Amino acid sequence: MRLSQLFSKTLRQAPRDEQSTNASLLIRAGFIRKEVAGVYNFLPLGLRVLNKISQLVREEMDAAGGQEVLLSSLQNKNNWEKTGRWKNFDALFKVSSQYKTDYALGPTHEEVLVPIVAEFVTSYRDLPLYIYQIQNKFRDEARAKAGLLRGREFLMKDLYSFHADVKDMESYYEKMKKVYKKTFERMGLNAILTYAAGGTFSKDSHEFQVICESGEDEIIYCAGGDYAENVEIAKAKEGQQCRLGHGPLKRVKTIEVGNIFPLKDKYSQVFGLTFKDKDGKDKNVMMGCYGIGISRLMGAIVEVFHDDAGILWPKQVAPFQVHLLVLSDERGVMRDGENIYNKLQKTGMEVLWDDREDVSAGEKFADCDLIGIPTRLVVSKKVGRGKVEVKKRGQKKSEVLSLDRFLSQYN
Ligand code: ATP
Ligand code: MG
Repeated sequence: MRLSQLFSKTLRQAPRDEQSTNASLLIRAGFIRKEVAGVYNFLPLGLRVLNKISQLVREEMDAAGGQEVLLSSLQNKNNWEKTGRWKNFDALFKVSSQYKTDYALGPTHEEVLVPIVAEFVTSYRDLPLYIYQIQNKFRDEARAKAGLLRGREFLMKDLYSFHADVKDMESYYEKMKKVYKKTFERMGLNAILTYAAGGTFSKDSHEFQVICESGEDEIIYCAGGDYAENVEIAKAKEGQQCRLGHGPLKRVKTIEVGNIFPLKDKYSQVFGLTFKDKDGKDKNVMMGCYGIGISRLMGAIVEVFHDDAGILWPKQVAPFQVHLLVLSDERGVMRDGENIYNKLQKTGMEVLWDDREDVSAGEKFADCDLIGIPTRLVVSKKVGRGKVEVKKRGQKKSEVLSLDRFLSQYN
């Protein structure tokens, strides 16, 4: 894509009304714009990142047997009353229609999906089932000052699993722990599997926590990897010795990027989601629920990967792979740059070409660092014809290569 055609522009100054690093940088770099507190619009660069994260998550959910659906945001109040959550779900947005109907504005989708599944599941042969979606959720959050980390409208992946017995549910739950770990790793994040008691969904659950000073959560964990618990409930104390001899437990701030819950028959009971087992007996379906904060992840990645100059996107979620700068308005150099752009495009590489005229080299470099694409290529008179100066975002050293050499080395 040509930068001159991108409708968003970068800002020199951070917006005054944003306290969080992720929102400041993402707004300055032209990825997002705030609508109201806790609600953000995604511009072309931002949507590319959001789609990359969604696609990566989708691949992992499909591989885990997931069937994708898209459920409604405006939801039937009766079903929310049946589960008791019309009154008890603190952050529920309630929408009143001028035609005297009230709706729940979906913060989660048990009330929608369980009745649908009940229509189709009759026998043990219909199970297990894994159903997921990637969709905007709405929660009336008290504090929404952390940019994409805490939205009142935000993008989430939610998967619901349906099983004939607890054993099968537990084995899928264990499998999803590994799937989640891998999913976050693919985005460059080390997410710590953390035990958490209590919550609106089940007695206990497991969270995936990324260590980050600006996070709103805190965990106590063992660096040896055998223990992690949310401090809200943890009995263990910082500095206490790990039982397996890994040394003192640490207390750190974290961002919760995922959460999985063994729901068991909490919702199948309410909606009569039963099946006939092998002996023809009626039984409740056992459920699990598995969330990933897609838009929160975008914010978390910026919080973890940035420096004074801007963002450092991990390759797998970067809006483009290569940022091409042509530093001359001499016709020959410009033409060389355009040839290189066309060749890179032909190989299928995602290239952002800063083709702006009347913008200084200094400004182009600053925008390049701010936007944070992993590889920078410079074409200039000094670099020479048919050659590119290659530099990785976040590294100081650069090297001059012929285009062919760059292409053969890349990946
Ligand atoms: P939190 O404890 O941060 O309020 P939660 O435990 O209420 O989150 P879940 O119901 O577990 O959230 O939702 C699944 C995932 O969706 C969370 O792990 C998180 O990544 C994401 N998420 C939850 N609430 C928000 C929000 N307000 N803004 C952005 N992402 C969110
Ligand atoms: Mg949670």
